[in-house]
Amino acid sequence: MRVQILGSAAGGAFPQWNCACPNCRSLRSGTFHGKARTQTQVAVSDDSRSWFLLGASPDLRSQIEATPELHPRCETNDGVRQSPISGAVLANADIDHVLGLLLMRELQPLRVYATESIRRIVTEDNSMFAMLQRVPNQVTWTDFAPGAAFPLLNAAGEDSDLRCRALSLGTHYPAYVSLDRQSHLKPGEASLGLLIESPSGKRLAYMPAVPQIDDALLKEFESADVLLFDGTFWSDDELIRIQGSGQTAAQMGHVPVSSAAGSLSRLAQLRRPRRIYVHINNTNPMLNEAGPEHRQVLEAGWEIAEDGWQFEI
Ligand SMILES: [Zn+2]
Repeated sequence: MRVQILGSAAGGAFPQWNCACPNCRSLRSGTFHGKARTQTQVAVSDDSRSWFLLGASPDLRSQIEATPELHPRCETNDGVRQSPISGAVLANADIDHVLGLLLMRELQPLRVYATESIRRIVTEDNSMFAMLQRVPNQVTWTDFAPGAAFPLLNAAGEDSDLRCRALSLGTHYPAYVSLDRQSHLKPGEASLGLLIESPSGKRLAYMPAVPQIDDALLKEFESADVLLFDGTFWSDDELIRIQGSGQTAAQMGHVPVSSAAGSLSRLAQLRRPRRIYVHINNTNPMLNEAGPEHRQVLEAGWEIAEDGWQFEI
């Protein structure tokens, strides 16, 4: 299985347009020891010809242009409109995870996998997404249930040979979802982790928003070859300390990297998977390659994802 990390930052990217935190400020002034990042976006393929997006980020257009494997090819009989992107699998309904769907509205056939709850939020409550349904066989929505494995098919129904299984991780829907709508949705369909498996049994775990780590989750992670894990915040009160107000990491559905209950400590026992942090918020001090937090993460055997990384599992 081929994996591309097209973007590795949390919502808002790095630097974020309205942020003057120490990281964003020094990146803009050219003194930061580290790299800018677009909003988290991963793509997977079994044959390097047909690709599935995990989510659809607001930076998708530039991420596609920066990735030759995702450019249209002129070898089909379909004219000039073509895309190696077969579809997308949605892990939640956050704006920074679904907005990119609107950037793929040019009548390209795609299959989009989502839980029933996420599909209903996107298609029934947000009328702009009707642009994805202007003609028959444009976007084909396919529901999946957490826990059940399903094949990733392109819009024409051809099998990519990749299999996906979603783990229910969080019960909170985005703030834009009305309370009335939320009362009709299943809590277990709100926020998911995705396990993608190749025909040879290699497994990628994509976990960009993990509220807490329990033993069942540890077992799933230990069965993976590569773990892309929630690196949003270094500490639970990171936003509050930097902004003077806001929510804790826990309130936003993210286990922090540091502290006894954090992911560095809780996942230290993992042996099998290559461990990579993704979805890193611009405030996170581990982005600073000259800082002690960055060094601590690397010394613990973790990697910190950068835009443009790609690898074979
Ligand atoms: Zn910032």
